[in-house]
Amino acid sequence: CGIVGAVSTRNIVPVLVQGLQRLEYRGYDSCGVAVHRGATVDGAPAGAQAGLDRARSTARVSELQQQVDQDQLVAGTGIAHTRWATHGAPAVHNAHPHFSHGPSAQAQQRPARVALVHNGIIENHDELRAELQARGYVFDSQTDTEVIAHLVDSLYEGDLFQAVSTATARLHGAYAIAVVHKDEPHRVVGARAGSPLVLGVGQGEYFLASDAMALAGVTDQICYLAEGDMVDLQLGRYWIFDRAGQAQDASQRPVKTVQ
Ligand code: GLU
Repeated sequence: CGIVGAVSTRNIVPVLVQGLQRLEYRGYDSCGVAVHRGATVDGAPAGAQAGLDRARSTARVSELQQQVDQDQLVAGTGIAHTRWATHGAPAVHNAHPHFSHGPSAQAQQRPARVALVHNGIIENHDELRAELQARGYVFDSQTDTEVIAHLVDSLYEGDLFQAVSTATARLHGAYAIAVVHKDEPHRVVGARAGSPLVLGVGQGEYFLASDAMALAGVTDQICYLAEGDMVDLQLGRYWIFDRAGQAQDASQRPVKTVQ
């Protein structure tokens, strides 16, 4: 039901959790956050457990906050979600972010490769799931969303933007998504078609949210993405592409100050 994402050199876990709190008014049945622990914070080197990590809850965002504190989640890159279930019961294993560990039955023992949050509904999830299962992907949830995580993984060849772009071309339905890959610690890729998504522009740090209000107190510099847009957030730079894959400049996708 709501999405927040961030790429920064500071710890963005509080930004993600507070963003979810500001989206609580939309209603939700579960919530979650995933970070890239390899995304260094304030110049400190990545910890020994660099990689994707997550916390999820079927309780309030305040409960997620406690988990995040207990797990000492700290990172400069991450994504977060409040869910309003459409496919799969409200339960922790169906809560976003969804991971892909890659194909094979032993995949769960490997580190996660892709983390993804999604608002909306994927109409052709059955067909995509069958195709991915035939290629060895094992599903952890009953959601339509998890197919996108595995689809991105199956298409990944070292460039997350390229993989998400190819994956979204296969999706029928409505979505706003935000995606992180374990091999690209300072990158979040977003896309929207039928669900809202805005870009927040900070000082060399960038944010995604389904609603500008989620970024209140973080940045008031907002770019409203257009239907079909994709966005590539990296440290110190971002790119927006329209549905035809054309790069959009500041006159085409202006950044506005919101109150
Ligand atoms: N269809 C997805 C699910 O059921 C996303 C729902 C939402 O927009 O929160 O998990």
